[in-house]
Amino acid sequence: MDHLVKAVAEDVRVYAAVTTNLVNEASQRHGCGALASAALGRTMTGALLLAATLKEKECITVKFQGDGPLGSITADASAEGAVRGYVAHPEVELPLTNGKLSVGQGVGRGILSVTRFTGLREPFTGSCEIYSGEIAEDLTQYLFRSEQTPSSVGLGVLVEKDGSVRAAGGFIIQPLPNASEETLSRLEKNLSELRAVSAMIDSGLDAKGMIAELLPGMDIRYLATEEPVFRCQCSKRRTEEILLTLELKDLEQLVRDGHTEVCCQFCGEKYQFNKEELIALLHVANQLQEHHSNGRR
Ligand SMILES: [Zn+2]
Repeated sequence: MDHLVKAVAEDVRVYAAVTTNLVNEASQRHGCGALASAALGRTMTGALLLAATLKEKECITVKFQGDGPLGSITADASAEGAVRGYVAHPEVELPLTNGKLSVGQGVGRGILSVTRFTGLREPFTGSCEIYSGEIAEDLTQYLFRSEQTPSSVGLGVLVEKDGSVRAAGGFIIQPLPNASEETLSRLEKNLSELRAVSAMIDSGLDAKGMIAELLPGMDIRYLATEEPVFRCQCSKRRTEEILLTLELKDLEQLVRDGHTEVCCQFCGEKYQFNKEELIALLHVANQLQEHHSNGRR
């Protein structure tokens, strides 16, 4: 089962997650090749870990707008552990680099932006240049440069030859403001010797096992375990609302076509509308238009 564990160890906070199932679901929904599975899986896991640092009901959007062949990659995650995401060109593959998927090359250079939705104030967006396109390094750089939060983010996705996701997960470590020099140098040493996240998960470690390997010899206090899932907010009802934003003449054309299919960009879900439903929508759209012009008069 996918899970996310929150813990503190002395003057460090650490969140670790195993996300194999939800990354596999995203990969299948979007028909991702190996490269896109890795890039999207890392981005979604990173978004989940960042969202885990937020308050209840808050959520976050992480967007990589690079010039690489994968195109932009977007992931939304909530503090409660729901995540969704998509990549513009899921089918793209590139030759391996040193035996590894060329995620950095697939993403390219451009802008990484992170938007926090608190529900109270206006959403806040911070951004920075994409550092390597390898996702974890980029998020680490973003947190340091844009939010002045020293952190270390590690992410990994291991993909089978058939494109299915064998292991996925990640961690985020943040020294608390009062962290001692000794802790910081110990962390740096631990991280420099750490094996790849995907290897840790593939060897059977769960999130707690990962935390124990990240922070050997430290006094770890586990705070909470959550179950992150792939979940989209789309529904037929919301899709109707989108269709109602079309111009009347476009809606009339859909009625003449007799059938339309709307595909959710975030999750790949397809919503079908038959002629009767389209006629009903056109009727509502006409009423809205009338109401609108009456209001203006
Ligand atoms: Zn959806």
